[in-house]
Amino acid sequence: MNIKNYINGAFLAPLSGNYIDNYNPSKGVIYGQIPNSSKEDVELAYQAAKDAYPSWSNTTLEERSSILSKIAQLIKEKLDFLAEAEAKDNGKPLSLATAIDIPRASSNFQFFANAITQFSSEAYESFGLNAMNFTLRHPIGVVGCISPWNLPLYLFTWKIAPAIAAGNCVVAKPSEVTPMTAYLLGEICNEAGLPKGVLNIVHGLGTTTGQAIIEHPNIKAISFTGGSTTGAHIARTAAPMFKKLSLELGGKNPNIIFADCNYNEMLATTVRSSFANQGQICLCGSRIFVEESIYERFKKDFIQKVSELKVGNPFDEDTNVGALVSKAHLEKVISYINIAEEEGGRILFGGKKVEVIGSEQGYYLQPTIIEVTDNKCKLNQEEIFGPIVTIMPFKTEAEVLQMANDVTYGLSATLWTNNLNRTMQMTKQIEAGIVWVNTWLLRDLRTPFGGMKNSGVGREGGFEALRFFTEPKNVCIKAYPNPS
Ligand code: NDP
Repeated sequence: MNIKNYINGAFLAPLSGNYIDNYNPSKGVIYGQIPNSSKEDVELAYQAAKDAYPSWSNTTLEERSSILSKIAQLIKEKLDFLAEAEAKDNGKPLSLATAIDIPRASSNFQFFANAITQFSSEAYESFGLNAMNFTLRHPIGVVGCISPWNLPLYLFTWKIAPAIAAGNCVVAKPSEVTPMTAYLLGEICNEAGLPKGVLNIVHGLGTTTGQAIIEHPNIKAISFTGGSTTGAHIARTAAPMFKKLSLELGGKNPNIIFADCNYNEMLATTVRSSFANQGQICLCGSRIFVEESIYERFKKDFIQKVSELKVGNPFDEDTNVGALVSKAHLEKVISYINIAEEEGGRILFGGKKVEVIGSEQGYYLQPTIIEVTDNKCKLNQEEIFGPIVTIMPFKTEAEVLQMANDVTYGLSATLWTNNLNRTMQMTKQIEAGIVWVNTWLLRDLRTPFGGMKNSGVGREGGFEALRFFTEPKNVCIKAYPNPS
């Protein structure tokens, strides 16, 4: 299937007529083409957004909220169709796309449809000066949203929904590797009555289409989710142009397990936090640290549970682990298995490609557990973003805290313990934007979401996202005594 750009409410071929192949990772075959959009296509999208802005930024909150709710409703109604498209485009199990990705895309719109009606700004009375300050929060104008391939519609909508709820118009680019559900979202927006030009979706390569968005002089804010290297490049480009930037980047998250935890709950969740979405979630706990006294027990039980996971075609009902997103990514992930061997890591389980019958060319890899002895090894320092976790034991709280923080990343951390004092101490000291205690990936959309250190700049979620997508302007009014 060939897809098109969504510009000014219409589906347009790229001006150059150039296309890129789109792969089905579970089969390893090309199944469609996407526009290889140029700077000129981005300019067309920008013009559409600019023209739509005066009217959209002046719609009532009720009107905006009701269109966003309608989009949320349509996504819900098309759940099966969208989930199938996502599984085919990304390689993730259909069950996961049906249970998580698509419902969350709907929730993103519904959440911001509600949140915008509750968003308010501050007022300060300057006592003794007879003055009143109040802060206006106006939309920025035309903003850029760029998202990755791991949770395609989920993360694409996580940016677009608050941007348009706040009254901005958007030029957006999904990952070239997973463009399909973004394309389908265009159709849904038309059906929901979103005025033309409010959302424009341009497909293509990061280095050309994405680059044209980040360096566009009049796109004044960029919300980006992706790798830290790309984030650094975007910051280098956009910062001298004084653009507002929200960067949600990579992670190398510790999963810290103490002997006093609820063991069965921890074990089941750790299997999930290691291998959900083939380990391709920025929040996956890829470094597992286990208190020495339960290390051997954990190792045995974890290997057993992981060996029960079924790697298979995303469309098979009993598949737990689907295909990795692309051949290039599969090769990158496998290169870390070779690095582990060079570094003296012990492969406790997995480490091999899987040939799925009927899908022999698909990009499948066994979930892999590697025992390491030093947190300084590459496997513990670099983001792999695939179905590979490391495990190692620790003796004391101080030791594990030091190792948890001894990485350049700081996105999330998971802590398993029933000791309240330890929880209080450690959650304060762990360097991460999100710390889960006795759970993982439990999300409340009102909370701030983002990373410290090389994991990002700024926070999304809740009112944080609406603050990002608006420009505060303080107004100070002084009253003078009545002349009479
Ligand atoms: P990339 O950084 O490669 O790409 C992300 C997006 O940026 C894609 O749409 C990509 O386009 C685009 N892009 C690439 N180069 C440029 C450029 N020069 N200018 C503008 N846009 C560009 O990340 P991946 O897609 O590989 O995603 C995986 C990464 O995302 C991991 O590091 C992961 O940790 C991180 N991530 C972070 C999350 C968070 O919330 N902190 C959540 C999910 C993922 P194209 O694909 O076409 O190259």
